[in-house]
Amino acid sequence: MTVNTTVTVRVPAKVNLQLAVGPGREDGFHDLVNVFHAVSLFDEVTVTEASARRQSPFVSLTARGEMGSHLARVPLDESNLAARAALAVAEETGRGAPVDLHLDKQIPVAGGMAGGSADAAAALVACDRLWGTGLSRERLVELAARLGSDVAFGLVGATAVGTGRGEILEPMPSPGRYRWVFALSKRGLSTADVFREYDRLRPDAPEPRPDRELEKALATGDAVALGRALSNDLQPAALSLLPELERTLEAGRAAGALGALVSGSGPTCAFLVGGGEGSTVVAEREAEVVAALTRTGLCEQVVAADGDVPGATVL
Ligand code: ATP
Repeated sequence: MTVNTTVTVRVPAKVNLQLAVGPGREDGFHDLVNVFHAVSLFDEVTVTEASARRQSPFVSLTARGEMGSHLARVPLDESNLAARAALAVAEETGRGAPVDLHLDKQIPVAGGMAGGSADAAAALVACDRLWGTGLSRERLVELAARLGSDVAFGLVGATAVGTGRGEILEPMPSPGRYRWVFALSKRGLSTADVFREYDRLRPDAPEPRPDRELEKALATGDAVALGRALSNDLQPAALSLLPELERTLEAGRAAGALGALVSGSGPTCAFLVGGGEGSTVVAEREAEVVAALTRTGLCEQVVAADGDVPGATVL
């Protein structure tokens, strides 16, 4: 029998194609209609058995990445969602032994692209494989939902709609392939702060509803219609906390993006530049949008990616 002493799992970032947010609930959460779309900005999570002599800490963390100031925002203690995921697998199965957990990060941190949640999803899969605990898909999804609203999506990837507080996931038919540009902000935004600002701005928020135009655009693979249908109820709150994002969005729109929006709670801004693969028109539009965003001087980094892509994958 082969025993794995190290396992690496690759996991994508998400952008929200629709984020409809209802009024605050008594438990502090909000009901959502949250259309997740996985894009090819990946984190890689590697778990390795720690030396046999080490009993504590149970998870020892390291991280690297080429994202300027972003990496400094990744906690390297037990508050890291990937470390919590490793502990959750150990507690759930009564198995497992101390591990070294390494994060190779490409997903913006505190950027509204669910990087922490993605790492947690990857750590669930990696620990399950390393320890041979054989958790079923259903139990992994249950553990994911306990760790956070966005974690289960990291397991499944592709395009899916989340309802409830975002954790009840259904796949969404989306046969098309899309090209995106992302503007990473020099600042981070706390998801909790953005929801608080949303509650202040929208005390009258209606119940969230699925957007049929978006569903139709995705089902038919129509990039122009998709660009028009993109929506995010949290965007006004993110712009209120970080007004410079309006200039970023405007620069991308003026350069020809088919659609532009703040991703999730922000501050990363997402620009749809086309559908299909390998078209010169799309490549030219992408270059124009990247150049315009870079010229604003507001972005920490500007990167392009494809969507959708699969969820957590063992390498
Ligand atoms: P979401 O859209 O899911 O609310 P986000 O994409 O805005 O989150 P994350 O990158 O997940 O933001 O980070 C949010 C905060 O979570 C960070 O500021 C950091 O303190 C903490 N965090 C915990 N674990 C991680 C991790 N593995 N990678 C990045 N941040 C983490």
